[in-house]
Amino acid sequence: MIAKERTIPLKLQKLEALLRRLPHQHAKRDSIAEKLYRLKAGYRGEREIDYPLSFLPEDTYWILHDLRLFDGSHYFQIDTLVISQRFALILEVKNFKGVLVLEESFQQMIRIIDEKKEGFPNPVFQLERQKNQLKKWFAFHHIAPIPIEGLVVISRPQTILQSTPNHPHIHTMIHAEKIPFIVREMSQLHSKKKWSKNQVYEAIKLTLNEHAPLDIDILEQEEILPIELIKGVQCPFCDELSMKRGWGRWDCLLCYKTSKTAHYAALNDYKLLISHTISNQQARNFLCIESPIVTRKLLLTSPAREGTNRHRIYHLT
Ligand SMILES: [Zn+2]
Repeated sequence: MIAKERTIPLKLQKLEALLRRLPHQHAKRDSIAEKLYRLKAGYRGEREIDYPLSFLPEDTYWILHDLRLFDGSHYFQIDTLVISQRFALILEVKNFKGVLVLEESFQQMIRIIDEKKEGFPNPVFQLERQKNQLKKWFAFHHIAPIPIEGLVVISRPQTILQSTPNHPHIHTMIHAEKIPFIVREMSQLHSKKKWSKNQVYEAIKLTLNEHAPLDIDILEQEEILPIELIKGVQCPFCDELSMKRGWGRWDCLLCYKTSKTAHYAALNDYKLLISHTISNQQARNFLCIESPIVTRKLLLTSPAREGTNRHRIYHLT
């Protein structure tokens, strides 16, 4: 069963919000759109494994997507972790196109597209590092040892995998559709139960508690100042940042449609791009509202706030 769902990556949400709020002529739009495109392709690739994973018996395997854990010295990320009573399995999902060649003498991975060759770090080494880090993490949290397996999963069925016949990584890099068959082989290999069901639940609970999603400051990373962003409330119908506060609702100055809740998306953009907290004055400025009283009413829907009157800060949840 799925113990942790896959969610839209935070960085993807941040890049989308940034693109929504950068002027059309902004010099960084193209490079941000390119990054967003690649992240979306990666996310689509990760979702490609959901179907083959759905064939694993629900009462034997627990699936946790998108994990970021701290091993005592480094954070490490796992695309998908499959836990059972006999072994744990790390799936590292790759979205490569073209032909992938595992080269033996230097253990590189070479990608060929349109006869153009390009070298990439061999993802099997990344996987080995993740396996070691997970082992260390289990030990650090006094969890009984369990065999840790790993697979590099190529999400696109059209991608061609090539290698020399005896390459040591030949069974570690697979197409997504093979996952259930390989997992069955692994369960035969690890015939002895290492954990009770309670130990499995404890390990899952700990993993969920310790998961620390990476919350980057996207403006800092892209070297963009808050002042460069377009302020205002986006119209949910024509997508322009063209809504003006009217009596108890938002009116679009371009398509003339109205919305009562359009400011929620704007405040979410503020949270993704600038800060998790906002003051009345900051909200007035960002939502382009003049009245502090109207702004206060809109912000009072936030359950978490601290301070009083002019110094009140609202937590954007
Ligand atoms: Zn509109």
